[in-house]
Amino acid sequence: MTEEPNDPKCVFCRIAQGELESERVLEQDDVLAFRDLNPQAPSHILVIPRRHIPAVAKLQEGDGEVAGRLLLAAREVAEAEGLEEGGYRLVVNQGRDGGQTVDHLHLHVLGGRPMRWPPG
Ligand code: 5GP
Ligand code: ZN
Repeated sequence: MTEEPNDPKCVFCRIAQGELESERVLEQDDVLAFRDLNPQAPSHILVIPRRHIPAVAKLQEGDGEVAGRLLLAAREVAEAEGLEEGGYRLVVNQGRDGGQTVDHLHLHVLGGRPMRWPPG
């Protein structure tokens, strides 16, 4: 599958393009963060690459920098949400069994309540 910079059918590409509304909390050159539409915790934010990368499974060698930037952005978002002291959880769902429903790589930042382990 060839990877287009933006996939017009992809909901997160459309959010990144500003075609769909979202409550943005962080904007960087390669990375964007916005609140999840259906939050599972008091703070639930999605961090995405602006470029359409479908999933962890589709990451290529050259994506190392943007993958690292997702983590750094997640930390920034967590700090801005005041989650640093209490802690938080980062989640990346991969594929059907992983619970991935949107095929544009995203990192969930969840916090503001205690998280259970193991996850469901
Ligand atoms: P996944 O299950 O793929 O790991 O997570 C997809 C997440 O995207 C879900 O938590 C879902 O609530 C969120 N989501 C789906 N569509 C939209 C949307 O249009 N806007 C926002 N802000 N979040 C969305
Ligand atoms: Zn996309």
